[in-house]
Amino acid sequence: MEMDTAELLRSRGLKVTPQRLAVLKIMSKGGHYSGEQIFSELRKTEPSISLSTVYNALEILQRAGVVRSFEAGGKTWYEVRLEPHVNVYCEDMDEIVDVDVDLSGVMKSLQEQGIETKNLSVIVYAECSKMKKELKEAHP
Ligand SMILES: [Zn+2]
Repeated sequence: MEMDTAELLRSRGLKVTPQRLAVLKIMSKGGHYSGEQIFSELRKTEPSISLSTVYNALEILQRAGVVRSFEAGGKTWYEVRLEPHVNVYCEDMDEIVDVDVDLSGVMKSLQEQGIETKNLSVIVYAECSKMKKELKEAHP
């Protein structure tokens, strides 16, 4: 998933800062990250960066709708994938895998009750070691 991160920031009315670009660069590879994971990735190339800088950048990106966050397993996870999908929290591996499930029925039911869905986040808790092999290979 390649994107012009600087352009993305500008399109959301955000200032382009090296910290925001660096956070987005890691996240644009896809997948789900905790603040600590992004922090330890960034420290490899920018040893002076602090954890609070990372969290500030994530907070701003999330509020501007550039990334999405959700809670699972006592952690906050961040991802760039915004379209509705199911996030499966693997309790045995402490990680998240994306599973494509048709959620249009959920949105339709909500719409019938007058709710226009802006963001839909479904979190499922599971034991991923019991998942089908193909699924694990598709989402390493
Ligand atoms: Zn996801």
